[in-house]
Amino acid sequence: MISVEEAREKILSCVSPLPVETRPILDCLGQVLAEDVYSSINIPPLDNAAMDGYAVRVEDTLGASDRAPKLLKVIGEVPAGQVSHLMVTDGSAIRIMTGAPVPRGAEAVVQFEHTDEMTQKAVGNIERQLSQVAVFREAIQGMNIRAAGEDVRVGQLVLEKGRTLRPAEVGVLASLGSAAVNVIRRPVVAILSTGDELVRVGEPLPPGKIYDSNTYSVATLVRRYGGIPKVLGIARDNIEALEQKIAESLEADMLITSAGVSMGDYDVVKDVLAAHGQISFWTVCMKPGKPLAFGLLRSPDGLRQIPHLGLPGNPVSSMITFEQFARPAILKMLGKTRLDKPTIEAILDDPLESRDGRRFFARAILTKREGHYHARLTGPQGSGILTSMAAANGLVVLPEDVRQAKPGDVVQVQMLDWPEEVDPPSARIN
Ligand code: AMP
Ligand code: MG
Repeated sequence: MISVEEAREKILSCVSPLPVETRPILDCLGQVLAEDVYSSINIPPLDNAAMDGYAVRVEDTLGASDRAPKLLKVIGEVPAGQVSHLMVTDGSAIRIMTGAPVPRGAEAVVQFEHTDEMTQKAVGNIERQLSQVAVFREAIQGMNIRAAGEDVRVGQLVLEKGRTLRPAEVGVLASLGSAAVNVIRRPVVAILSTGDELVRVGEPLPPGKIYDSNTYSVATLVRRYGGIPKVLGIARDNIEALEQKIAESLEADMLITSAGVSMGDYDVVKDVLAAHGQISFWTVCMKPGKPLAFGLLRSPDGLRQIPHLGLPGNPVSSMITFEQFARPAILKMLGKTRLDKPTIEAILDDPLESRDGRRFFARAILTKREGHYHARLTGPQGSGILTSMAAANGLVVLPEDVRQAKPGDVVQVQMLDWPEEVDPPSARIN
């Protein structure tokens, strides 16, 4: 029997970050930046108005108030996206819209609300541009002006290599004008379900058969963690069909199979996999998920080794072993350095028993009450009860040497829906 950590280390030692690719920024969500990104422009490029209003000189507004407005001559208008050739001079103003570059000579923008623009419009001066405007407030140098380069300066290092791209980083790249960026490639993960009892979704269910759910839970896990699933379908006990599927998997970066690889099984799947590389069958000290296969397949040109993870067939076991072993492998290939699910401490609300000395991953519902997380079990913990996985948002991890936990005990919980980037709350319960 090997520990969860040993199994994980062996798997991780066989995968490395993938090569760099150039991708359109819209496709890069969650990928790791493979270059330092510098700006070739100022953002904003020019001083511009932060409000709709009038571009003015400060001295022309000195002393302005509701009772003693300053009258200015309106000499023109600048809409967003245009640069005015006019200049604000003594006693004049230019009507300006938010985002429009501030005309020469102007020192501030007085917003419409502090002028008589609305009043003039209300009395029917709607279509025509106002010829003069009354200003009710003193302007201050730079008021309502966004300075050129206040967000980003020319030549600035904006995003460093190694950053995971979130929507904000994608937006920043767009603001620099980058249409594409260098990122670490996403792993393509081939997914194969095995078993004569399996039927594809959408087809009638004959007696004795079950629908193949692992393909779908595993494929969506792959996608959730940033990989590209390549669904190979269901392998039957037939060498030709299997050879064909294994051949397809050799173009991928990793192969994940489910079922058909446990100790006792006689299976062509095992033989065919063994013929394409090396494979070991592990007994991992965990529940669910004891039987696990790990191997390295040779690519047809012999230059590459494709890691193969053989998950147990039970739907819950395959998901939990995926979380422990496939997820960190995918994240490592994506170039991520934070590979762990955030683990928090929680107060157990239900009794929990595990008598066989294996690490127990129990499905649980985590809620926060009075400042502490509480873990309630989802109900029966059988490894075939997939709805218990659907009900859960965390896995209570009961260590190998703990046989039982009582309500009120503090337990460790892996937060399934929290991204690896989340720092778990540091406060400990006791
Ligand atoms: P095995 O590992 O082949 O002994 O399978 C263990 C259990 O998981 C059996 O009850 C299988 O029917 C079930 N199982 C195997 N593969 C799948 C799958 N792709 N989808 C749903 N259940 C499966
Ligand atoms: Mg089977």
